Amino acid sequence: HPLDIFAHLMVGSEGTLGFLSEVTLHTIDDPTLKTMGMALFDSVGSSVAALPLLVDAGADAIEMLDDASLRTAKYLDNPPYDPNHIQKNSSALLFEFQKWHINEIQQLAESIPHDLSNVGGQLPLGMISDEHQRNQLWNIRKGLYPTVGSMRKKGTSVITEDLCYDYRDLPKVVNELKSICHQWQYDDAVIFGHAKDGNLHFAASIDLNTSEGEKRFEGLIQDMAELTVGKFDGSLKAEHGTGRNMASFVEYEWGGALYDIMWKIKNLADPNSILNPDVLLAKDSKIHVKNLKKMPLVSDEVDLCVECGFCEPVCPSKDLTMTPRHRIAVQREIAGGNADPSVLNKYLYDGIDTCATDGLCEMACPVNIDTGSYVKSLRQGSVSRIGKWVSIWSAKHFASTQFMVRSMLGIGKSLESLLGSTIWASIFGLLNKIGFPYHWNDKIPRVANNFSIYNGIDREVWVYFPTCLSRVFAGNDQNASIVDTLVDISKKVGISLEIPPGINAYCCGQPYSSKGYDTAAAISQEKTIDLLWQSSKHGEIPILIDTSPCTHQLRHSNATLKAETIAKLEQLNIVDIIPFLNQCIDKMNLPKLERKIVLHPTCSTEKMGHVDAFKELAEKCTEHVEIPTHWGCCGFAGDRGLIVPELNLSATSHELLDTKGLMKGYSTSRTCEVGMMSHSELNYESVAFLVKEYLNQSVN
Ligand code: SF4
Ligand code: SF4
Repeated sequence: HPLDIFAHLMVGSEGTLGFLSEVTLHTIDDPTLKTMGMALFDSVGSSVAALPLLVDAGADAIEMLDDASLRTAKYLDNPPYDPNHIQKNSSALLFEFQKWHINEIQQLAESIPHDLSNVGGQLPLGMISDEHQRNQLWNIRKGLYPTVGSMRKKGTSVITEDLCYDYRDLPKVVNELKSICHQWQYDDAVIFGHAKDGNLHFAASIDLNTSEGEKRFEGLIQDMAELTVGKFDGSLKAEHGTGRNMASFVEYEWGGALYDIMWKIKNLADPNSILNPDVLLAKDSKIHVKNLKKMPLVSDEVDLCVECGFCEPVCPSKDLTMTPRHRIAVQREIAGGNADPSVLNKYLYDGIDTCATDGLCEMACPVNIDTGSYVKSLRQGSVSRIGKWVSIWSAKHFASTQFMVRSMLGIGKSLESLLGSTIWASIFGLLNKIGFPYHWNDKIPRVANNFSIYNGIDREVWVYFPTCLSRVFAGNDQNASIVDTLVDISKKVGISLEIPPGINAYCCGQPYSSKGYDTAAAISQEKTIDLLWQSSKHGEIPILIDTSPCTHQLRHSNATLKAETIAKLEQLNIVDIIPFLNQCIDKMNLPKLERKIVLHPTCSTEKMGHVDAFKELAEKCTEHVEIPTHWGCCGFAGDRGLIVPELNLSATSHELLDTKGLMKGYSTSRTCEVGMMSHSELNYESVAFLVKEYLNQSVN
């Protein structure tokens, strides 16, 4: 049916014929067993000659890397080979076999190195089946784009191109592409690709800030198009979009007759030319060198952003206001003098106030940009003198600050009980209308009871730093104390937790740093690190922190600390609650509790690489553990959830849908637990309570 043909055209139309509002993907099985290798050859020609051998053996993936690509491994922490020994013009094939039966994997692991050596290939690392080592090798391939991105001059952009040829032409094509890149001074270009499909990519940095840079870009694209279409009868696109960059060459590639048919279809589907104009089909033969986007410098923290958008899915404000990419792109518009004044005002809320500063964007970013840290620096620039003074006073007198917070919380909770939640929330609503920034949240816990200090002599001593969250808020809906709970657990496993004297005067600095009060954050951290240095006997005794964001904050301080404090910090053995509890029950073999629970790993748990350990801990204690598919930052971010509660609502909406039918939620930060409870009936508390229940079975 003609509409079936049209449906297929839609798939490749890049939004020029319509848009897909819903897509169902039929996925394929992912075999459990894999083995891979990296074969080095002295030239692209010899690597291409080896391709049929790997294709015939049934390789599922074969990637080719040129010598420049191979040398980028020098930017990895532990390169799996010596990148300094890569010879000029050499090349490599990175290949993987995926199978269901171990016999098949074993046979390939034996035969492939031998077969490849017969055609001039060397496997310096042999065949690799271990997942960690395989990931290390694949990271070289995956890291090519970010590496070019992070090595480029600030203010320049990164281009990745996607070309396709008969695979037998690849040796000549790679040589000619290298000369074109050299001629137009793209000397940082790396060439790689899906070799068995003849699909080549190259990535290079481009400077579009000067007319000279624009000319070089035009020359590169023109020569590349002529090489691909005119000389090798290849295709200007394989798996990427044609976009605007190649729209000028579509007629050259396909010829006038087909080009006219394309325009006829376009005009039928989009008679007013409103769908993605100038993408794929453009009347202007110079469209690829018009409206080129400049990259004005904004700040060292974000200037390397390539606006790829990889960070967007993880951002808790993505459905409410902006994503990290938006935050940076708008700042560039402002720096370039192109922003409307209304944008500046809107940016205060959209860009700054609704950023949770959780830093999850950094984990997804190929060039490691932490937009949250950048937003903190913008907040710093807008703090008032009085705000700064108050924050410094509060950090210096933290015991008084904590006393005030506990008192206000106590009064608030008492009035809530007396008047009822609805009336109390309405009173708060009126206060908010006249400018009081904090909103009432009925899921805020009661004030924590004073905890008891345990001085038992056990075989193992740890310093315990109860965070201010655990000192202010009750740990669960039964008003139990997380501090007492951790002390109980420790006693049961023969650990003595020693709480440093005068603990109420100390804080990790997170409440100040997230608001841009840098000096106050540094004062807090200096004090706390000194305290931990003394109480841990200069780093000899491990230190337990009961709240993951505080563990991360202390370990990865971004405040300006004195050199001697940094030296002390580096020697401290700061341990987060998750590995601590895992250690406590590691050797236990008690029956699992029968309940269906859900975990909410905090952003810091993810950043510290503890999500798997968190799941293992919970699975040791209970029969059924889930981490929601849509798990992410809850957007509560300390007290931000009380200032912009809509951020928390928006951030948790998908995750909470995944918690249906589950009995209880566990996390490792009291404010994140409040964030998860704010718009759900599910009760969340620290995973320490789960571990205590698990251990209590040994007594019963
Ligand atoms: S900040 Fe986001 S858009 Fe910018 S480079 Fe990183 S992931 Fe890409
Ligand atoms: S820190 Fe969080 S909220 Fe801010 S831009 Fe990054 S992911 Fe988004």
